[in-house]
Amino acid sequence: MSKSDVVVIGNGVAGLVSALVSANQGQKVTLLSYGAGTFPLNSGLIDLLGYDDAGNAVENPIEAIAKVADSHPYKKIGVETIKEAVKFFKNVVASEGHPYVGDVDQQQWVITGVGTLKPTCLLPESMRGNKCFKAKEIVLVGVKELKDYYVDMVAENLPKELGEDKKYTVVSIDTGLQGGRDLTTRDVAYWADTDAGYSSLVSQLKAFAGAGKVLVVPQILGTKGGTVYQKISKELGCDIVETTGMPPSVNGVRLRDALLSALKKKGIHVIENSKAEHVEFRGNKAVAVKAGGEVRLQTYEAKKFILATGGFYNGGITMRDIGAPKEMVFGLQVEADCVEETWANKQLFSDKKHGFALAGVKTDASLRGVNASGKTIENVYVAGRNLSGYDFCFEHSGNGVALGSAYKAAKA
Ligand SMILES: Cc1cc2nc3c(=O)[nH]c(=O)nc-3n(C[C@H](O)[C@H](O)[C@H](O)COP(=O)(O)OP(=O)(O)OC[C@H]3O[C@@H](n4cnc5c(N)ncnc54)[C@H](O)[C@@H]3O)c2cc1C
Repeated sequence: MSKSDVVVIGNGVAGLVSALVSANQGQKVTLLSYGAGTFPLNSGLIDLLGYDDAGNAVENPIEAIAKVADSHPYKKIGVETIKEAVKFFKNVVASEGHPYVGDVDQQQWVITGVGTLKPTCLLPESMRGNKCFKAKEIVLVGVKELKDYYVDMVAENLPKELGEDKKYTVVSIDTGLQGGRDLTTRDVAYWADTDAGYSSLVSQLKAFAGAGKVLVVPQILGTKGGTVYQKISKELGCDIVETTGMPPSVNGVRLRDALLSALKKKGIHVIENSKAEHVEFRGNKAVAVKAGGEVRLQTYEAKKFILATGGFYNGGITMRDIGAPKEMVFGLQVEADCVEETWANKQLFSDKKHGFALAGVKTDASLRGVNASGKTIENVYVAGRNLSGYDFCFEHSGNGVALGSAYKAAKA
């Protein structure tokens, strides 16, 4: 049996950040991790709020957050907590060699893998698309044998976003890698980590670089945070920008590695492949979680629990029959408007919020979970995608809510 001050369940942004904040307060933390979080999918960008309820683009995220509906998790988290959480996050990633730029009061822009622009708030400098706004020429770089990156599609769409007055050039580089299969951005980023790969990348890109130009590349500038970007942009003598892209997301994994490294330095006990299955309660308090693999469950006692299991997207909440959603660990109440017609729109990226995305665990003002009989569980806090009242895809707020709620849950 293990005893901690805090047991965190789930290893996405919400789980890793809440574990770090708790440990920073001197608490003994155990993190039960299962799967990889959404990191390999989500480009590691921290969107705070991209669009308001009416679908209008938000210019100043923190101002717009102050006006969200009462049902939105940001209302419970609070503007000041969000500012503190952002500061905390930026300090952590900077000290891990993967610094993020941007702040709560100004939207930043990234170029997507299909050549559209997407708002975000915190991002590594290598992905800051704003650098293209003033460029005279945009050089769109494809990579031979790279799958799921269509440079011609980027070339077709980007001028519609950045303006036709710039010059757009399409070029290609060759890694020379031969693995008997198509390459992923991860393969190319690993190649750029090596001395030979890096030299080849620089010499090929130099042929297209020049004053007034910005080179746009998929996420290939190494696996280790800002190091390759800083070096290469100096050597090229012009800016270079990474797009988002299809999974596996190199930058999502860079962010996960940075947070895990910080966790390790804090001595946080990370139990891998450990799925929380059952809970022991005493009155309105949880006392222990049982978790483990297929064969044997271990008991993890704690004074406080933070539930960060990712909601519908990652198995934290499931629903076998319409109308009966279930939170899988503590049996907490799930708020959901289970109307078949509005549960899921035809298109994922739709002009309406999805019913399933708004569904989530019911919490009190401090983010403590509420059980099926309407009682607050005194020592169980809920963070991230488990929370009800927001559609991250519609409003672009996924990692922002994860970060803010994790910070609030850990500080409570
Ligand atoms: C394709 C895609 C792209 C996205 N792009 C962006 C973006 O660009 N910017 C942005 O801000 N947001 C983005 N998001 C949203 C963002 O990724 C999520 O909202 C946010 O990361 C959720 O974090 P989380 O920690 O709550 O959950 P998750 O990342 O889902 O992590 C939950 C973890 O808990 C684990 N778990 C589940 N049940 C248990 C259990 N019983 N025991 C132990 N562990 C368990 C899961 O396996 C998982 O590893 C994107 C999401 C998707 C799907």
